[in-house]
Amino acid sequence: MQCPNGCPSLMEERKEEKIFHRNGEPVVISDLTIYVCPNCGQESMPLSSARIVEDVLNGKVKPSGKFTAELYEISSEG
Ligand SMILES: [Zn+2]
Repeated sequence: MQCPNGCPSLMEERKEEKIFHRNGEPVVISDLTIYVCPNCGQESMPLSSARIVEDVLNGKVKPSGKFTAELYEISSEG
């Protein structure tokens, strides 16, 4: 897949954990295939992954577990 920003190198396929929000609640999808441009860092999601995300956000997929993680919010105050 070619980078939409016109970079010369092809985008690399990666499996990543992505956080999305459904009804204000965060949901994590692991092993989601995305393409990342090694030049500019642009991410692109193939249609197959977009469908998975859509199904998850529509509640069509049962969760396989709970994901908990520490949250770090970067504050602009001092
Ligand atoms: Zn690029």
